[in-house]
Amino acid sequence: MVLQDLGRRINAAVTDLTRAPTLDEKAFDGMIKTISNALAEADVNIKLVANLRKTIKASVKFHELPPHANKKRIIQKAVFDALVDIVDPHQKEYVPKKGKSNVIMFVGLQGAGKTTTCTKLARWYQARGFKTCLVCADTFRAGAFDQLKQNATKAKIPYYGSLTQTDPVVVARDGVEKFKKERFEIIIVDTSGRHHQEDALFAEMVEIQTAVQPHQTIMVLDASIGQAAESQSRAFKETADFGAIIITKTDGAAAGGGAISAVAATHTPIVFIGTGEHLLDLEKFNPQSFVSKLLGMGDIQGLAEHVQSLNLNQKDTMKNITEGKFSVRDMRDQLQNIMKMGPLSKMAGMIPGMGGMMQGMDDEEGGMKLKRMIYMCDSMTVKELDSDGRMFVEQPTRMTRVARGSGTSVREVEELLTQQRMMGGIAKKMKGGMQNMQKAQGQM
Ligand code: GDP
Repeated sequence: MVLQDLGRRINAAVTDLTRAPTLDEKAFDGMIKTISNALAEADVNIKLVANLRKTIKASVKFHELPPHANKKRIIQKAVFDALVDIVDPHQKEYVPKKGKSNVIMFVGLQGAGKTTTCTKLARWYQARGFKTCLVCADTFRAGAFDQLKQNATKAKIPYYGSLTQTDPVVVARDGVEKFKKERFEIIIVDTSGRHHQEDALFAEMVEIQTAVQPHQTIMVLDASIGQAAESQSRAFKETADFGAIIITKTDGAAAGGGAISAVAATHTPIVFIGTGEHLLDLEKFNPQSFVSKLLGMGDIQGLAEHVQSLNLNQKDTMKNITEGKFSVRDMRDQLQNIMKMGPLSKMAGMIPGMGGMMQGMDDEEGGMKLKRMIYMCDSMTVKELDSDGRMFVEQPTRMTRVARGSGTSVREVEELLTQQRMMGGIAKKMKGGMQNMQKAQGQM
């Protein structure tokens, strides 16, 4: 995964610096240069990179740091914040409301991943309790309706389209009207991405927009176009005034970082990113979570949100996390949930430290590793499972017993417990934040 490579390089530059025998300004400048080179190679605009250099230098003020300051933390935070700033569009997006019909129209060039993303987004909302459906208004491309039908059927989402009506405006209007009457809450309209002439494509978009009056128009962009994302989005913006962007194929694209930062620079909200071909490969875009995952620091909030959406067994874990706890049993439940959640490599990236542990493994190897971790948990006593893991450190023979019982090694048991301890630390830190969040949602 190319974006992961970028994250690894940035991470390595920071780690190398903080491990260096002499952490002086020259070494600090060297780190900034390495990070800048990595970003430039990922096709991030040179001006943005120059700004990032300046921001990091200005926020750290290396020569003014007091001698006993925790340089490592200050530098890590400065790099993190500067990266967040580069991918942050600083714009709010439309939030669909429950109980009313929210019409979402998709635009974008053919091949960008529009049809696939329509279904992914429909599933995303469906999983969050919205009554969701799809309308295929692409009458230009033979087979477009079939493709949508197939995707929608797989995801069990109602759809509308026509094999005989050739006017996309009529299909879009009829479909939206029908679903509005049936009180669907999310109505997603897929449009054509190609025409004989570009002008005709844009004219059609505007006509459909006028006919269905979408609450949100989303433009779909392929990450592999890199910095060109900026000019492409501007061209679309001039005609079909969209309010948000989804960037697809961030999993494979060498220029993914370039596309995301280029779009962010235009202050258009990036609402989601596509991370693969699977129906579940759609991530809500959040600048902090994105950078956190990029740097292998995980995305606990994203994970919690995702688990919630899948209605998995997470009630007790969430309760524990709000209380600042994370037991071995929580670790086990989460591991099991991960196995149910689709592409492993992606889910693992959401757990701090786990992405690194699974680095270089394909999904099959990763799956085996997770299974072994679950076997280890299954060899523990109830008391051990519900503990914070400290009893293993106090009585290491417990580890030997678990390793023997699960057919694994003591080193693997240690690794599992290190992981759980790390999550425990995060849960502790999140305690205040989560409680405030729940209070705000009126759940307490
Ligand atoms: P459309 O012409 O814009 O409707 O594009 P499609 O939805 O037909 O997608 C074109 C191709 O891109 C298909 O092969 C999809 O599976 C693929 N695709 C879409 N989104 C992603 C993504 O996020 N990652 C990857 N790797 N492939 C994607």
